[in-house]
Amino acid sequence: MVNQERLWQRLMTLAEIGRQPDGGITRLSFSPEERAAKDTVRRWMEEAGLSVREDAVGNLIGRRSGQQNDGPVVLTGSHLDSVYNGGNFDGPLGVLAALEAVQCMQETGVETALPVEVVAFTDEEGARFRFGMIGSRGLAGTLTADHLEAVDANGVRIRDAMTAVGLNPDDIGQAARSSGSVAAYVEVHIEQGTVLERANLPVGVVSGIAGPLWLKFSLRGQAGHAGTTAMDARRDALVGAAAIIQEIEAACRQEVHTVGTVGQLTVEPGGVNIIPGQVEFTLDLRDVDAAVRTRVEQRIRTVAARICADRQLDLSIAVLQDIAPVRCDERIQAAIRTACAQVGLSPLTVVSGAGHDGMQLQHLCPIGMIFVRSKDGVSHHPAEWSSPEDCAAGAEVLYHTLLQLSQG
Ligand SMILES: [Zn+2]
Repeated sequence: MVNQERLWQRLMTLAEIGRQPDGGITRLSFSPEERAAKDTVRRWMEEAGLSVREDAVGNLIGRRSGQQNDGPVVLTGSHLDSVYNGGNFDGPLGVLAALEAVQCMQETGVETALPVEVVAFTDEEGARFRFGMIGSRGLAGTLTADHLEAVDANGVRIRDAMTAVGLNPDDIGQAARSSGSVAAYVEVHIEQGTVLERANLPVGVVSGIAGPLWLKFSLRGQAGHAGTTAMDARRDALVGAAAIIQEIEAACRQEVHTVGTVGQLTVEPGGVNIIPGQVEFTLDLRDVDAAVRTRVEQRIRTVAARICADRQLDLSIAVLQDIAPVRCDERIQAAIRTACAQVGLSPLTVVSGAGHDGMQLQHLCPIGMIFVRSKDGVSHHPAEWSSPEDCAAGAEVLYHTLLQLSQG
């Protein structure tokens, strides 16, 4: 049904916009590259016969009418921006699979009760401003004037970057959709993991998006001479931290989907011949189930307190960020499973460890996601890859999902 060749050619065309010398792609928000990508997709939307517009935060929207044209819309899409030197499938696949599915509707002439809109969101990745999902926040009505004060590496605020591309930052409220105006949001996205590859399946049905909890652990012991302080007289903050990190791994491995990562660690005073007196490290803890994540967090806090008490270390734990996990809507998941069956695919349930625009859209409407197999699970890297067949399978499943959701 979907045109695999057309979808692939479009993916490869977008891959040339923002291409870096070593093959990666850099397409930051409100940059000429993001603009060029949107202009290219706009042309394809128009070729498909969609009515195209951009909203007040720069989201590109192509609309196909439904019989109930003033009814709620079924929304599908993804983002066109990238991280620094990223890949070509994270984002573009979701936009182009959505366009392909809706173009198929045009070509078959199928009528739907509800209108369907293809959206290319402004800045999902947050690479430029370390603040992402600008477009989906705008559409979901969760973007505030305060958010627009975030600055990039050159001190340019989001507000200024918007003005520079002809958007009025004071108008962001106009991008917000009203409650009840969006019936569903469905996104195709690469898995960025290896579950589908290991299951030998091209697509998966996402049950939820994990929410990250970021903690900062500070351990204070006693710095001292590495040569003269007996082993049993030490209060070594780094050895305590090492014990806690081991326990973090063990606690996560007791669960099915929980992942925990210690990605930053500082040691003071940091001398080769000085016992570490103070250590700070971060924890990124994720699960799609809030209750499970809380259980693991409590386990880690308890064991960390015990380790520090045993070693006479002072411990404090600060919460840097706490984003709740998001459940995908049961009805949309069921529609995706039915679509998989219609195209002869087994509907494997998977979870998303990465954040996506759906995390913002869930404040507005029920959401669902279709994952497409990633080669070796590689993402945010030039080697990111999904095959033409798998990309088309994602678009095909989306097509059948949209047909169900747009029946009103
Ligand atoms: Zn993405």
